[in-house]
Amino acid sequence: MRDTQLYQQILGLVDPWFVARVELNTSDSRVDIFVEHRSETAWTCPVCGKPAGLYDHAEERVWRHLDTCQLKTYLHARVPRTGCGEHGIHKVKVPWAETRSRFTLLMERMIIDVIRQCSTISGACAVTRVSWDEAFGVMQRAVMRGRERKEATVVKHVGVDEKAFRKGHSYLTVVCDLERSTVEHVAEDRTSESLAAYYAALTPTQREGIEAVAMDMWEPYVQATLAGLPLAAEKIVFDRFHIMKQMNHAVDRVRLGEHRRLNSWGCDLLKGTKHWWLYAAENLPDRWRADFAEVKHRNLQTSRAWAIKETLRGLWDYRSESWAGKFFARWFGWAKRSKLTPVKKVADMIRSRVANVLSYCRHPITNGVAEGLNSKIMTIKRKCCGFRNVENFKTAIYFHCGGLELYPL
Ligand SMILES: [Zn+2]
Repeated sequence: MRDTQLYQQILGLVDPWFVARVELNTSDSRVDIFVEHRSETAWTCPVCGKPAGLYDHAEERVWRHLDTCQLKTYLHARVPRTGCGEHGIHKVKVPWAETRSRFTLLMERMIIDVIRQCSTISGACAVTRVSWDEAFGVMQRAVMRGRERKEATVVKHVGVDEKAFRKGHSYLTVVCDLERSTVEHVAEDRTSESLAAYYAALTPTQREGIEAVAMDMWEPYVQATLAGLPLAAEKIVFDRFHIMKQMNHAVDRVRLGEHRRLNSWGCDLLKGTKHWWLYAAENLPDRWRADFAEVKHRNLQTSRAWAIKETLRGLWDYRSESWAGKFFARWFGWAKRSKLTPVKKVADMIRSRVANVLSYCRHPITNGVAEGLNSKIMTIKRKCCGFRNVENFKTAIYFHCGGLELYPL
């Protein structure tokens, strides 16, 4: 078999395209394949598909293909341009690459696969021997085509969450499909506009199809949802884990205050106990159980705050909204009588929006379900030192978490 025939087969080239010659350059470990077409080919206009005459050939272009025998492999061709009476002069579409790509389809698929596996671009660069910019270009194109192809399916349960991008100041708003565990939308900041853009881009059917939205008690998200969704007031479900986090924070504040007070009297009863109070009772590690049981039964403010916190967890066991409401009213009274300022504050916060806490009975959703997704995003963030800006980070999130069809066709 001649080398031209061999490469014709490797590339899977079909009529009218054929390999005209192959140049092997062992010192550079590369092979260059020159592809041409039969001269009597009948071309069509790429816009309308009607027969069109050959006008001329564009400048030679080069595409990187999968390595063959560990040689970097490049495909060269001059793409014909056709002249259509109606649409003018256009380059024909070649079967081995997408219009703007400098890689063949197979190479582009391979780079996508490797980036997926490596989760870092530099890792993928090392394996595929392409530059960082080239690999990132593949990623960007993959996301763009995936998002263009994405069908307007209904997301029944939406999760809205904020992610710190750079420590302290920059945030991203991440909207997830809680059932499919995919990221649907990423926007800069955590303003009302960040989320409004998601709702605005949906079709009316998609908007009506949203049954519930899980989120933190974050006013800008509430406002965007009330403005962007029909009957939103019934659909917002404040995330139970976020509420419990606030509650835990209150317990910790009480403990800290009490610890300082006790300490000033020379008592270190609460020393080193910080984490004991923050665990859900059943999750407290065995090694602390005995000591914790001892401290817990002392007449401490911290014990009271802890008991109030542990009791609140029971709210999410109810399936009936009215029973949950009664439970909450009792709990609220207890918390308010506790004389523990941080606890009272959280109780007031929950009370002010209790309808959208109790809505959990109708829509038992939480952003915690998207936990797998969160850790994926954190991994991307950790490995994203190479991303020079937030746009690139967004691209990476869509690439790895968007559930998108990334391959070129
Ligand atoms: Zn045409």
